[in-house]
Amino acid sequence: MNMELSRRTFLKTSGAGIAGTTLGAFGFSEAEAAVAAAVKPFRLVNTTETRNTCTYCSVACGIILYSKGDLRKGEKANIVHIEGDADHPTNRGTLCPKGAALLDIVKSETRLTRPMLRKAGSDRFEPISWDAALDKIARAMKDDRDANFIPTNEAGVTVNRWLTAGFLAASATTNETAFATYKVVRATGILAFDNQARV
Ligand code: SF4
Repeated sequence: MNMELSRRTFLKTSGAGIAGTTLGAFGFSEAEAAVAAAVKPFRLVNTTETRNTCTYCSVACGIILYSKGDLRKGEKANIVHIEGDADHPTNRGTLCPKGAALLDIVKSETRLTRPMLRKAGSDRFEPISWDAALDKIARAMKDDRDANFIPTNEAGVTVNRWLTAGFLAASATTNETAFATYKVVRATGILAFDNQARV
């Protein structure tokens, strides 16, 4: 039979095989060793794998989210396990302690999942929709740029600067997202542009 094994399937398969033969060497029967070897995969059976990037630092390690329900289809999914992506060129499956504890962030009761707004005069933050948050940010940026944009310097040379706003980008993105972010921010004239990786 011609069987194609992905790297992940190969690791799973060979891992179970190694566990089985090792237990066999210690005197366990074949059936007992097979049951023992089968215990770990049960935890992730029927889960959906979704690739993502660790949220924490600029190393941007690849991770795999295992969920009941398909995150990629926008289903309300329960993430049950997160591990390093062995196929990712940055981390090759490894994670530092922060990355290894990512499931705690996902499950944390204090995790922010919606934009929050504190209205003028209020003493508390209230959740608002993503559309409302984006509209508010866009309005504030447009108004500030219109009021403070500097098209030319004292010598009349075109400079197209916007010095009253700054932009802090995230590092846990793809090269393509980073490229697009850079182009958009620079196109507005913003000079104060930095990255979370340097903070
Ligand atoms: S796993 Fe650790 S090193 Fe990798 S991106 Fe996350 S925080 Fe950074």
